[in-house]
Amino acid sequence: MKSSPNNYVEHFMARLIEKNPAQPEFHQAVLEVLTSISDYLEENPHYINSGIIDRIIEPERIIIFRVPWLNDVGKIVINRGFRIEMNSAIGPYKGGLRFHPSVNLGILKFLAFEQVFKNSLTTLPLGGGKGGSDFDPKGKSENEVMRFCQSFMTELYRHIGQNTDIPAGDIGVGGREIGFLFGQYKRIKNEFTGVLTGKGINWGGSLIRPEATGYGNVYFAEEMLKTKGDSIKGKEVLISGSGNVAQFAAEKVIELGGKVLTMSDSDGYILDKEGIDAKKLKFIMNLKNKHRGRIKEYAEKFKILFHPKARPWAEKGQIALPCATQNEMNKDEAEQLIKNGCICVSEGANMPCTPDAIDIFIDNQILYGPGKAANAGGVAVSGFEMSQDSMRITWTRKEVDAQLKKIMKHIHQTCAKYGTKPGGFVNYMDGANIGGFVKVADTMLDQGAV
Ligand code: NDP
Repeated sequence: MKSSPNNYVEHFMARLIEKNPAQPEFHQAVLEVLTSISDYLEENPHYINSGIIDRIIEPERIIIFRVPWLNDVGKIVINRGFRIEMNSAIGPYKGGLRFHPSVNLGILKFLAFEQVFKNSLTTLPLGGGKGGSDFDPKGKSENEVMRFCQSFMTELYRHIGQNTDIPAGDIGVGGREIGFLFGQYKRIKNEFTGVLTGKGINWGGSLIRPEATGYGNVYFAEEMLKTKGDSIKGKEVLISGSGNVAQFAAEKVIELGGKVLTMSDSDGYILDKEGIDAKKLKFIMNLKNKHRGRIKEYAEKFKILFHPKARPWAEKGQIALPCATQNEMNKDEAEQLIKNGCICVSEGANMPCTPDAIDIFIDNQILYGPGKAANAGGVAVSGFEMSQDSMRITWTRKEVDAQLKKIMKHIHQTCAKYGTKPGGFVNYMDGANIGGFVKVADTMLDQGAV
């Protein structure tokens, strides 16, 4: 990140780090937002004077709890559960649950903080939250995952509700886990309400919710390209990850005529120079969602190269869609992408690019869509799922997709409104941060010292 434009940010960050030690991802997310909005804060001093910045970085509530569960050999295993209820100014807390061994307080606070701005950008009445556990579903039996989910919900249920806090999925939490969590909530509360999103289509889910984050990311990339009179058609696209977001980003790229060259998991990446077409993508979906296999099995099946313990960013492509995890692309990789002719990076994952990688994109004035704007399609369709549940109706696939497109277009416009620089270059990161901030901050001012 470039040096802070004013002393306020430096002093603020020093205090934040002292008060929240050992939370580097949270520090990174706050510094990015403060750096982006610092000029705006200088022009509008009432935000600082009324303590909005001090308030917005402090979660309204953090719940940390023990999650005991019995594994298949009868041993009690203990994991740690979390829910960060970050900000409810514009609506009930909303944000995913992550099950991954790396989960800790700092990572969830960064995700909850990002979520506040992202949800604000969607135009929907959604506050921000995030939660999860250091439980690793990988390598666990179906019964172990179910017992864990039931134990997790046995504590979480008392803190959430359709008008209070509505969790969804994230890394390690897909349709299967949402099903187990929902079943347990319903059983304890004896009520059928839309307390979780990402539900199955037979029991309150929305069409297009599984696809929404990946599709929305590609719609956002397409909007950015349109400003240059360009499109995804005919472009070579590098994707990381092979989970929910990556799969549906790939599906939409293929549908729009792009060529997907890479996908990955935490073991490495595959490079398919002929392109991962719709049929091969089906293989990946089956491999990952049903057999819970590894991406290298694709390389074995289609006789192409697997690059173990590596990330795909040194490959040649005009578009990059990081869709795996935070800080998965560094400065050297960003420089390599630019050297290889990349013109557009759109973040499916949350905070996948390091601050100095982002500087490279902005210095080179390529199209860079930050996660809180580019991957907001998932939470937007979660918002639609909540509306459908409340009204007890179902919208068609076409209706939801049209609404998703409209929201991604609107987010793009907001970014352009707040992020266009004097020479005409659009800094989407600044645009997303300022655009997301203003609505939440103004609402907090309306609601008094809360
Ligand atoms: P999934 O669990 O479905 O998939 C995650 C993918 O990323 C897997 O391929 C996984 O590989 C890989 N991955 C995870 N951690 C690492 C790591 N440390 N290093 C390398 N690869 C890793 O999660 P999602 O697709 O739902 O989420 C992906 C990203 O998108 C996350 O940043 C999430 O916060 C963000 N996001 C998700 C939304 C959603 O609706 N699901 C909404 C908005 C953002 P492996 O299987 O080997 O772990």
